[in-house]
Amino acid sequence: MKIVDIKNLTKTYNKNRGIINLTFSIEEGEIFGFIGPNGAGKSTTIRTLLNFIYPTSGSATVFGKDIVKDSKEIRQNVGYLPSEIHYYDDMRVIDLLKYSAGFYKKFNPNRMKELAERLDLDLHKKIEDLSFGNRKKVGIVQALLHGPKLLILDEPTSGLDPLMQNTFFELLLEERKKGTTIFFSSHILSEVQKLCDRVAIIKEGELVKVETIENLTKKNLKYITITFEQTEPMDLKLDGIVKKEVNGNEMTLLYSGDMKALLNQLNALPVKDLLIQEPTLEEVFMHYYEK
Ligand code: ADP
Repeated sequence: MKIVDIKNLTKTYNKNRGIINLTFSIEEGEIFGFIGPNGAGKSTTIRTLLNFIYPTSGSATVFGKDIVKDSKEIRQNVGYLPSEIHYYDDMRVIDLLKYSAGFYKKFNPNRMKELAERLDLDLHKKIEDLSFGNRKKVGIVQALLHGPKLLILDEPTSGLDPLMQNTFFELLLEERKKGTTIFFSSHILSEVQKLCDRVAIIKEGELVKVETIENLTKKNLKYITITFEQTEPMDLKLDGIVKKEVNGNEMTLLYSGDMKALLNQLNALPVKDLLIQEPTLEEVFMHYYEK
């Protein structure tokens, strides 16, 4: 079942583009990444899905329901973490969480305590005394607390230290085991690579690609390091060299061509060492971007 289904969705701010003609969908139970640089249109898409802003044209459904007409119903079953969190500073964390849980039918104080403990969040502090990272944790607890069917997380890891990020990823994997669908945006590819089943890549408001992480990292793009016996410049004449850098007697290639053709050429050269690696998602991503 499609939990999110976006069709030709466009949002312009006066004459400025926000997003242009986006079409993609998210299946039930997926962890789906939404990747693109700042200003690409990730928040615009998310805010449109949650009906904080109206689409200029096109349409979308969440749980099969229309994002504009049925937004109240939709939000009952969505946990949302905004990229920037603005709270009532004067409140204590525990009161804020109880207050926001009042919008949903389910409030589970034990779950609140469990989440706070795992994230190392002091429930009795005032919001105004919290660091950016700790505010983020409040947002995470808030998004998870009512046991939503869909989590929409806008840049969830910014501001979390690496240890906390791991805890957060564990929490997401536990949610997924319960059947929760997760949609999260990021401009950091390595974290998406760790966690997601599929990603949508967005650039300047337009969808570049929707791909499984597996395919994305296995597009036969390889990261190759060749060390030569000597530093005289070596030349390779090959189709499929995406990028080449030479540093002393070391040459690095991003290569998507025929492996045999490469090996044949190397065979005739004074090669001392050869390392062939999977490219990072970052490199694959750049490759798509530059096309
Ligand atoms: P991302 O979340 O990927 O960083 P955004 O969705 O915030 O990107 O922004 C997409 C584009 O829409 C950007 O060019 C941005 O300047 C523009 N934009 C976002 N919000 C507004 C707004 N309220 N008014 C005008 N332009 C906006």
